[in-house]
Amino acid sequence: MRDNEVSHALCICVTIDDFARVLQVANAAPNLYASVGVHPDYEDLREPSLEELLVLARDPKVVAIGETGLDYYRLTGELEWQRQRFRTHIRAARACAKPLVIHTRAASADTLTLMREEDAGAAGGVMHCFTENWEVASAALDLGFYISFSGIVTFKNARDLQDVARRVPLERMLIETDSPYLAPVPHRGKTNQPGWVRHVGEFIAQLRGIPVAQLGEQTSDNFFRLFNILR
Ligand SMILES: [Zn+2]
Repeated sequence: MRDNEVSHALCICVTIDDFARVLQVANAAPNLYASVGVHPDYEDLREPSLEELLVLARDPKVVAIGETGLDYYRLTGELEWQRQRFRTHIRAARACAKPLVIHTRAASADTLTLMREEDAGAAGGVMHCFTENWEVASAALDLGFYISFSGIVTFKNARDLQDVARRVPLERMLIETDSPYLAPVPHRGKTNQPGWVRHVGEFIAQLRGIPVAQLGEQTSDNFFRLFNILR
């Protein structure tokens, strides 16, 4: 991260069993933070209760609730448990006033519906690793959410997503790696690492015709504002 001038990172929790290790990473350095949540792709594990999420979210290093959301691509069939889990996370985020990290895949309509029904806008948050179209982006922006782009935006076939990355207001944009997945060009196919978010930033800056330093400063400001981090 230092070699790439990446100053801060959020380590994402995807199961409660992993939370202790995520927190350990976050505790290892002042510029690292943690989230707490259970990813929608994990079906056969103990459901976190609202109370449990709130207890774990009390740690000052925990700046977000998630990763949560809906995924109808990886899993099919009866997915009411997934929607219920998402609702629990939104309620936790509102109750502890920490923003949500939301994953949505092949489920944008239901994701937005649940966000509205549960008033996710009251907690705020980010649509992480965004891959949807402008219509979905603008609906999330209307709910007060940020849009985060990963290495996918650098892929040759990602024309529609690049169009979204041109249109999202700079003050509502975040960049991420989603490590260890989705390494950006020119490292596509390799094991991703947080420092490579630099390539995502460089690519979007070029798309928008602005200096990379400006994009870096703006997305950093957004990160601190969204996750309530004092610099
Ligand atoms: Zn995700």
